[in-house]
Amino acid sequence: MKNLEELKKDYADLIVKAGINIQKGQRLVLSCPVEEADFARLLAKAAYEAGCKEVIMRWSDDDLTRYKFLYAADEIFDSVDHWFVEMLETLSEEGAGFLSVYAEDPENLKDVDPDRIKRNQISSGKALETYRLRMMRNDCPWCVVSVPTKSWAKAVFPELGEEEAVLKLWAEILNACRVDGGDAAKNWREHSDELRRHVEIMNNYNFKSLRYHNAAGTDVTLDLPEGHFWAGGDEVCKAGHNFSANIPTEEVFTLPVRDSINGKLVATRPLCLNGTIVDKFYFIVKDGKIVEAHAEKGEEVLKNAITVDEGASYFGEVALVPYDSPIQNSGVLFLNTLFDENASCHFAFGEAYPCIHGSENMTEEELKAIGVNYSMTHEDFMIGSPDLSIIGITHDGEEVEIFRDGNFTF
Ligand code: ZN
Ligand code: ZN
Repeated sequence: MKNLEELKKDYADLIVKAGINIQKGQRLVLSCPVEEADFARLLAKAAYEAGCKEVIMRWSDDDLTRYKFLYAADEIFDSVDHWFVEMLETLSEEGAGFLSVYAEDPENLKDVDPDRIKRNQISSGKALETYRLRMMRNDCPWCVVSVPTKSWAKAVFPELGEEEAVLKLWAEILNACRVDGGDAAKNWREHSDELRRHVEIMNNYNFKSLRYHNAAGTDVTLDLPEGHFWAGGDEVCKAGHNFSANIPTEEVFTLPVRDSINGKLVATRPLCLNGTIVDKFYFIVKDGKIVEAHAEKGEEVLKNAITVDEGASYFGEVALVPYDSPIQNSGVLFLNTLFDENASCHFAFGEAYPCIHGSENMTEEELKAIGVNYSMTHEDFMIGSPDLSIIGITHDGEEVEIFRDGNFTF
């Protein structure tokens, strides 16, 4: 049996090799909470061992972020410094890898003025558009992973002491990422192949539309764009190297035709949105647009999130995750989208990943014309349930059962 320190090293190696797949001579931009400096060091060391040219650190800290939103001068939230934009544009232009260790107290910003959060999102969304589009198009390899910070672990396991909560969350994270003391890279490859199998089946059907239904109240239909493809598991960056954008990942996903969604989408898990928990919410959707949004908890934050720009109230992703997935089966509510989205079928409001054959040679206008949504935001929210039914309708009008009782039928 390996101890936790050895398992952390396996996890760091998996992230650097299978996640970002850093290449000789490539730079790595590493974002990490300062509380997890030890893990950042493991990642940096693994990256240098793989031939990384330079690791560029971007530290974050929940307290400092909260102080800024509470106490900084008001005009700060309406602009982004030129040097900051230039840094991300220069690094993404040269094809650096972008690795984010995403872990935060899910309610870190709950006492902050929601207007400051929204204005900050709008100003950075506009300023960082070039960088964001490069990431959405996979110009650079990118990867999001998590390690347990104390405040996050306590939010997930409030009944445990801080130390036990952190250890328990480590165990859950390693389990979800299939780091089990054996060959973690091999486990990951096998899992990725299984995702590819579902991708291929969905692509072979080339469905025209999908219809969702469950007892929680989701009842929705949507079309898939001409030339769309499903993705899942490994992706390929512009330089031709495989990478995994999320560790863990359990989803196969594509995009809907922007104006085609009609019905009701009911969330089945809470959503941590901009440092606040939004819970028990639903959307009424008409011709692709959210026309009503209600939440029992965090409604103002939710309404702000879907109005940061016009595209934020339309959808950019439909993702299939079997209810019988390791993360769902763990019974843990992670309060962190990286994990919760991989426990459940989900949609995202906002920007679409351009999962369209030949999209790299199409203009924004051409992509919009076939139904690709553009927005400065992209937020996954979970609608999966043990009784979820999804029917696919082919271009010949044939109806195929894709999900029965929350799981793939194939
Ligand atoms: Zn997703
Ligand atoms: Zn997403």
